[in-house]
Amino acid sequence: MLIILLGAQGTGKGTVAGILSKQNNWVQLSTGDIFRENIAKGTELGVEADKYISKGCLVPDEITVSMVEKRLEELKNEKGIILDGFPRTLSQAEKLDEILANKGEKVDWVINLETPREEIITRMLNRRVCSNQACKATYNLVLHPSKVEGICDICGSELIRRADDSDSSAIEKRLEIYDKETKP
Ligand code: ADP
Ligand code: ZN
Repeated sequence: MLIILLGAQGTGKGTVAGILSKQNNWVQLSTGDIFRENIAKGTELGVEADKYISKGCLVPDEITVSMVEKRLEELKNEKGIILDGFPRTLSQAEKLDEILANKGEKVDWVINLETPREEIITRMLNRRVCSNQACKATYNLVLHPSKVEGICDICGSELIRRADDSDSSAIEKRLEIYDKETKP
């Protein structure tokens, strides 16, 4: 079972993917999370990806597609995979179809989440994430605050703001890129 979650930033793809994967024992494959893990560990992929992510740009397709292809291969025995944050360009979507076709597979479901733009910006400014890479829980100061301010309910680690959520010009840039590259 392969499911794709589409939607602009801040619509809740990661949250919905997390709920679905827990309920069904599916694996969540989030390209944003993989990039952030690599940035935190300082890997070669992380250093390269950070050049784009810190500016609010998309990571080039070659890097992203080969990373997803490798991860899909590692997950080939899983009964369900939810893609969250991929594909994000027409070319990524076409490459994904090719990768799957080569294995005799296809996309089963696509879920498109929609949220009004003003709400998205507020959500991104209010988003806080767990600093523990193994946990990565997401909170919202208004919609879904942690029980103790600044502390993760699940693991007790400090909650932080994602670097690309902290700067409103990066947020606007990301939404512009969504309109131009992803929405089609
Ligand atoms: P958001 O959807 O809020 O931007 P993500 O965690 O999905 O957050 O992604 C964070 C960043 O990682 C993106 O702004 C982009 O730079 C990069 N990224 C994630 N997925 C992709 C992708 N499929 N193609 C290119 N870049 C990506
Ligand atoms: Zn946590």
